[in-house]
Amino acid sequence: MSHIQDQIKFYTNQFPSHVKLVAVSKTKPVQDLQEAYAAGQRIFGENYVQELVDKHTQLPTDIEWHFIGNLQSNKVKYIAPFVALIHGVNSISTLKEIDKQAKKLNKQIEILLQLHVATEESKFGFSEEEVLEIASQKESYSNVNFRGVMGMASFTEDQSLIRKEFQEVNRIFSLLKPLFGENFNEISMGMSGDWEIAVEEGSTLVRIGSAIFGSR
Ligand SMILES: *Cc1c(COP(=O)(O)O)cnc(C)c1O
Repeated sequence: MSHIQDQIKFYTNQFPSHVKLVAVSKTKPVQDLQEAYAAGQRIFGENYVQELVDKHTQLPTDIEWHFIGNLQSNKVKYIAPFVALIHGVNSISTLKEIDKQAKKLNKQIEILLQLHVATEESKFGFSEEEVLEIASQKESYSNVNFRGVMGMASFTEDQSLIRKEFQEVNRIFSLLKPLFGENFNEISMGMSGDWEIAVEEGSTLVRIGSAIFGSR
């Protein structure tokens, strides 16, 4: 078995049954995704719009494509027709544009609200106040299906800080859940370096790239 297939099997076996693996395939060739697909992987995460559009046309139609990068509003239209879940929605303008494109297509688009919990200023995401404000106005986004939250921990060796930040994501998720309702049940957190802590702290979608496909 190839390294890619080994790793897919490894994570699928490690995760509790309520946790799904998002195989992060950004910058990797289509052949690598085909190998993961052959091992049973169906959820792939991509960061760049053009790359996602290209790969999606070349691969099987039962793949669930997740957009996990920073999405600019002017690019929403390119992925709106086929994207299964947009993880990192972190601005009101992008949220409005997703609703607008979904209306044009007469569909619902599923999204996660990105929370800013890391210590780095450079990381994207809403504050607690901002997501509560969005929740109070959720009716104005009638074609957006709010499915949960996404968060990234600080880039640090400090495991206790990472854990604290994931706990913060989970805390805000619990505040929002009663406001958004029963479809609001996903927490996207954890990557190759911190997935174990993320799973312990309630992640349901773990985004693993380099540990499956090799370094970029
Ligand atoms: C690249 C990326 C990942 C995967 O990171 P690895 O460390 O390679 O597992 C996960 N989430 C986001 C948002 C990314 O950009």
